[in-house]
Amino acid sequence: MRFGPFLSTLLHTFSNFTRIRAPSSPTRIAALRPLPLRSMSGIPFLGALFGSSSSNSTKMSYPDQRPDSEWRAVLNKEQFRVLREKGTEPPGSGKFDKHSPEEGVYTCAGCHAPLYKANHKFKSGCGWPAYFDSIPGAVTRHEDRTLGMTRIEIVCSNCGGHLGHVFKGEGYATPTDERHCVNSVSLNFSIDDKVVDIGSKESKV
Ligand SMILES: [Zn+2]
Repeated sequence: MRFGPFLSTLLHTFSNFTRIRAPSSPTRIAALRPLPLRSMSGIPFLGALFGSSSSNSTKMSYPDQRPDSEWRAVLNKEQFRVLREKGTEPPGSGKFDKHSPEEGVYTCAGCHAPLYKANHKFKSGCGWPAYFDSIPGAVTRHEDRTLGMTRIEIVCSNCGGHLGHVFKGEGYATPTDERHCVNSVSLNFSIDDKVVDIGSKESKV
């Protein structure tokens, strides 16, 4: 019988309009979808395919509740696209990709909240600034089910501005085995470490 794949496709299409779901071959349906570049175990494929909920980050309330009209006034076009519309800058294009200061702090390009310290940054070779940890509480995580995969989106805890995604278990030689993959556009940098003390109540190390 050669109509297996056709049947799966038909059922999948059909299921978008009815409550009927493919009875026997979820793995075949999953195989039709593109896999994420990085291995991520335990991805709820069926949830991603059939679930109706999307990222709830837009429903969260953040201390900084400026409307888009105000953000447009203070952000340039690219900053607005990435921070407020969850865009992504092209790999290797960002000004902080190969930026390796000895000290200082990376702040949110939208609201200036301190997010990462210079010593959180490491060279990942992925094309975007990479951090193995953030300033405590500065970054909030959400499940992101766009593009047919499940990823963990990270946003600024103060204004909800989109930073990028966090990936785990990739085997980098860092203390957390996590990679905060952040758009340079979402960040500013200050060599003055004191910003961290003022903004986060974190004691200086
Ligand atoms: Zn912010």
